[in-house]
Amino acid sequence: MLRSVGVVAAAALSITACSNMPSDPAQAACLSRMEAIAQNLLPAFAAEGYQPTVHLMLDAALANGRGFASPPGVLGDSAPGGRVRLRPALCANPPWAVVVVAHEMSHIALKHMGGVATGVSLEWEIPPKEKEADALALAVLKRAGGPRESIAILECRLGGCVAPRPGKPRQLRA
Ligand SMILES: [Zn+2]
Repeated sequence: MLRSVGVVAAAALSITACSNMPSDPAQAACLSRMEAIAQNLLPAFAAEGYQPTVHLMLDAALANGRGFASPPGVLGDSAPGGRVRLRPALCANPPWAVVVVAHEMSHIALKHMGGVATGVSLEWEIPPKEKEADALALAVLKRAGGPRESIAILECRLGGCVAPRPGKPRQLRA
């Protein structure tokens, strides 16, 4: 009990209090769960040598700089300053919620900030920075002890699963 209290207190230093708390109770609860995921990962990031400062928000459209909504396969993205946008639908899929939060936190930890937000989409190839973010996210989740399903997803993204049939997108990219 004391240990978990300490973790929460330390995490509060690194996660900005959200000023965009949704007024809808279900959305607010969803965001709170996402923030709890991020807080719980901070000690593992610290153990890997990173202290990402993130500001989580829910965003159903994930519109780009031109105002166009991202494709449905995009689950989240990150941007300079530590802003992480997450699809509200992730709250219905806890293993993927952990994957996307860990992945976007990894982009911020690794300072993958070229001025363009990165996001999850279906791709044939995973660019180097995406693999780097997946690798750190995987290391963090292993250090944090799970969830097992999330670790399996990341291992698959990094090529550690059975290859799909030709003609199908090889992997999800985040
Ligand atoms: Zn990414």
